[in-house]
Amino acid sequence: MDIKKDQKEYLGALKSSGLKNTKHRCSLLEILFNESQPLNAEEIFFRIKEKTAEINLSTVYRNLEVLVNKGLVTKLTFPGDSKSLYEYNKMGHRHYIVCISCKKIMTIEHCPLQEYELSLEKETGFKINAHKLVMFGYCPECNKK
Ligand SMILES: [Zn+2]
Ligand SMILES: [Zn+2]
Repeated sequence: MDIKKDQKEYLGALKSSGLKNTKHRCSLLEILFNESQPLNAEEIFFRIKEKTAEINLSTVYRNLEVLVNKGLVTKLTFPGDSKSLYEYNKMGHRHYIVCISCKKIMTIEHCPLQEYELSLEKETGFKINAHKLVMFGYCPECNKK
């Protein structure tokens, strides 16, 4: 993976959102950008601490909210789970399957809704620019129990 190119992408997004390029925001975006799974605020906090030390959990929450409000980061809240998860809002979005027993989350790379969006636009006259899709069920391990 080309790290410089990655950095350019999220720093560019930060710049075009009009937010100040602070050390904490950069670390947050770097972590979320390179992570394939969504993370909760505590996990993000520990990862930043491993790298740069000087940060506290409320700073992480505060900066996450700012990034969520600007659309750079997506906040995911799953029913029955008190902790919100955060992920970098890449242009191509992802969907999830959540195990309601062990809370394991699997990412679905393929989006089945693109054609449906188009026909829905025709039908309703809406210009659709986002959607969310989360599947719930039991993972193979929990299903065996
Ligand atoms: Zn499970
Ligand atoms: Zn989709």
